[in-house]
Amino acid sequence: MEIEFDRDVCIGMFQCVVEWDAFEKDEDAGKAVLEDSEEVEDDVFRREIPDDAELDAKFAARTCPVDAIVVYDDDGEQIIP
Ligand code: SF4
Repeated sequence: MEIEFDRDVCIGMFQCVVEWDAFEKDEDAGKAVLEDSEEVEDDVFRREIPDDAELDAKFAARTCPVDAIVVYDDDGEQIIP
């Protein structure tokens, strides 16, 4: 399972930070940061989700008010949002 985070879309509400600790606050930028991710496009970051973090990652994606977080299953299908 993979997660993609669009930092440009992010409005820094920080609900994701509460749900999964891979998301951290960048208070200065008013944006979240996705730890251990790779920038795959301008301001778009992607990483694997560890098996034991799948639930937390899904909650993070569901809670984002602007759908800046997308979760993909192992077949590359978008499952959230
Ligand atoms: S919940 Fe969404 S808008 Fe809020 S900090 Fe996380 S990614 Fe950004």
